[in-house]
Amino acid sequence: MGFFEQRIQNLQKLLINLDLDGLLIGDGMNMRYLTDFKGGTGDGLLLVSREQAVLITDARYENEYQDALPAGVAFDVTRGYDEQAARRVKEWGLKRLGFEASMPYDRYERLDDLMPINVAFDAVPGAVEALREVKDEMEVAALKRAAAASIKAFEQLVQEIKVGMTEKEVANRLDALQKEYGADKASFDTIVASGYRAALPHGGASDKQLAAGELVTIDFGYYVDGYTSDITRTIAMGSVDPELSKIYDIVRQANENALAVIKPGLSTAEVDRVARDYIQEAGYGAAFSHATGHGAGLDIHEGPVLSTRSSDELVAGNLLTVEPGIYLAGKGGVRIEDDVLVTPTGSENLTAALSKDLLVIDD
Ligand code: ZN
Ligand code: ZN
Repeated sequence: MGFFEQRIQNLQKLLINLDLDGLLIGDGMNMRYLTDFKGGTGDGLLLVSREQAVLITDARYENEYQDALPAGVAFDVTRGYDEQAARRVKEWGLKRLGFEASMPYDRYERLDDLMPINVAFDAVPGAVEALREVKDEMEVAALKRAAAASIKAFEQLVQEIKVGMTEKEVANRLDALQKEYGADKASFDTIVASGYRAALPHGGASDKQLAAGELVTIDFGYYVDGYTSDITRTIAMGSVDPELSKIYDIVRQANENALAVIKPGLSTAEVDRVARDYIQEAGYGAAFSHATGHGAGLDIHEGPVLSTRSSDELVAGNLLTVEPGIYLAGKGGVRIEDDVLVTPTGSENLTAALSKDLLVIDD
């Protein structure tokens, strides 16, 4: 059985557990995950019942997908996606139908009006997203290619980076390099935050120039074959204030402590706690203002989340970022982020090849 057929079968098993006859899927990433259809949100609907599946899209996609869908997935070509979905629901005799909770409310109302009168049509949060938290071999291979391309691009970037470049110039150069190394596109606007701006966890690249004595945090994610990397490294422009070197060492140790404990069965909150306690004990607890990490894959932010409030258990196949940080307002900040695969016996750091020694760029 192919990867996509297996994913649809996993969803069909989940439908039984959820006591549903079928699920109507419109999210582009969820459709892609299940069928390899790359049209995107708004370009089709996927209806999956316990026994059948159909992708409903329009003629723009006919030639590309009529013979390319997973075995057993029917293909309906029409501009009226919603009407056709309602026709299939009636034809298949579905009574308890779920739809993605992320669906816009006006779309839900329209579909609800079209559905046969005896169909219970209810929002189901996170069904396909839950399956996507566990990566299969095809996904792991793409994630490894994405990590490798991003690492090569960053290693080239740091050969070229110098005082006086603007943050935007650095971001644009890294974005150009990732294509040379085989990535397709960025999964978010590359973050380059220098000096006092490094205290902004999501500081987008600005026209500020890099100056001597600053830390520069660079956070980037690039797609290869639909799967993204998500990496952060912090570098130094020449020698920096001793407190900045100190927080660098603390963040690095927090990152490594969290990496060391990751294994199946551990709670996501525990991974967060290991990183957070180390930073807290070093006196910077209040300066670590976000969760320790998140899942990534087709989307840059997926489950599970590594936060104090999360209550999931890690399983083999989770792909997690581990990204503790310390942010000192007006002074600077550090974040170090790796991408880690949970394996049956522990974990594999896909970004281990990218050094975490503090890189000092001298003039
Ligand atoms: Zn990131
Ligand atoms: Zn991240």
